[in-house]
Amino acid sequence: MVIDTGQNFTAEVAVIGGGPAGLVSAIALAAAGVETLLIAPAAEPDHRTTALLASSVTALQTLGVWQACASHAAPLRKIRIIDDTQRLIRAPETDFAATEIGLDTFGHNIENRHLVAALEARATELGLKRVSGAALALESDAAGVTIRLAEGTARARLVIGADGQRSLCRAAAGIASARRSYPQTALTLNVSHARQHDDTSTEFHTASGPFTLVPLPGRRSSLVWVLDPKHAAATFAQSDAALATEVERRAHSLLGAMSVEPGRGIFPLAIETAEASARGRIALVGEAAHVAPPIGAQGLNLGLRDCATIAELVADAWRQNRDVGAPDLTARYDRQRRADVASRTIAVDLLNRSLLTDFIPAQGARGLSLYLVDRIGPLRRALMREGVAPAASQPRLMRGEMI
Ligand SMILES: Cc1cc2nc3c(=O)[nH]c(=O)nc-3n(C[C@H](O)[C@H](O)[C@H](O)COP(=O)(O)OP(=O)(O)OC[C@H]3O[C@@H](n4cnc5c(N)ncnc54)[C@H](O)[C@@H]3O)c2cc1C
Repeated sequence: MVIDTGQNFTAEVAVIGGGPAGLVSAIALAAAGVETLLIAPAAEPDHRTTALLASSVTALQTLGVWQACASHAAPLRKIRIIDDTQRLIRAPETDFAATEIGLDTFGHNIENRHLVAALEARATELGLKRVSGAALALESDAAGVTIRLAEGTARARLVIGADGQRSLCRAAAGIASARRSYPQTALTLNVSHARQHDDTSTEFHTASGPFTLVPLPGRRSSLVWVLDPKHAAATFAQSDAALATEVERRAHSLLGAMSVEPGRGIFPLAIETAEASARGRIALVGEAAHVAPPIGAQGLNLGLRDCATIAELVADAWRQNRDVGAPDLTARYDRQRRADVASRTIAVDLLNRSLLTDFIPAQGARGLSLYLVDRIGPLRRALMREGVAPAASQPRLMRGEMI
């Protein structure tokens, strides 16, 4: 339910930001009966896709969102990694099948516009209150947080900051973050192609970064192509026909002739981790808390585990009539998220840097790691399991239980 500004609102929880992380947090809380206000401008068009790992799909099923996503999503049954660095030491081609770890799929790939539309529809169904505009400033005191809006204010015991990379909530909480830009830009586009993808995602590791084709329904795939910024800008400006030919060449014609769909995107890559996921009455989720390059589909999957964790802690506190924004609750949230966030961002950073480096021992280490993963069954399976679902305890939503 969209409500006008110009009023003063109160809620137990205010979620700031209407990207996937904000919508999932707000839906989880509203579904658990916690009075929640979403403060979010209308979504910008986003032609990217997200590979949602199986546990994220389970969480969306549990929240009643996946039903509207399923027909737009393609299953990911196999992942193929091909070393296309042309360097002296190259890794062997490595294939992973979901069935090796007893799963039907690793997850599903879906266009963000369909995911966000399904989330918004579910939010409306749940009667979630939404102020359609930005939060302008936040001020915390001992009992809650006051949020200044274009007109009027909102007041909540807890703020969930889902306001992305340049997070106002993070700044208002006084949480510093360490950011490092990579000399890389991701070009994103969707293609249709002559051959079947056989539910297989193919990741070519090149010297400028990964070139990854991820299945979409039918004979379509999404491409995330990581390039140096100059090359990315020039490639972005190419005609559809020239770009299709270039993509087919880079993909070694694996999927046959290609045509490029409308809606290209360009994203400078960086890694950023907030020094804490919460402070006082403000908790951060998604890219407000951590940004990682698009390798191994960790970004939003990690973000959704933030959302499920904070929602679980808040719902438990609310049922017990406790203060849902109490600093001990947010401190617990910060502790619970620390290992998962640190281990994923470090792993993605190392893998990305091993591609960029000209340092032969680092290339050798990557080649050897992939060789060992290829040959040693238990190691392969452990890695696949850890990639799909972290060994540390999963939040309830990821296990298919309502919070
Ligand atoms: C090329 C690329 C490919 C990717 N592929 C994958 C993948 O396959 N799998 C995966 O898991 N992850 C992937 N990711 C990562 C994923 O896209 C991000 O993790 C995800 O989009 C972050 O969602 P979010 O809701 O945290 O932030 P955002 O989507 O950035 O949303 C933040 C929202 O906050 C709003 N906002 C900002 N300021 C305010 C304010 N003051 N008041 C109110 N609202 C505000 C913005 O308008 C925006 O809507 C990829 C990333 C890139 C760049």
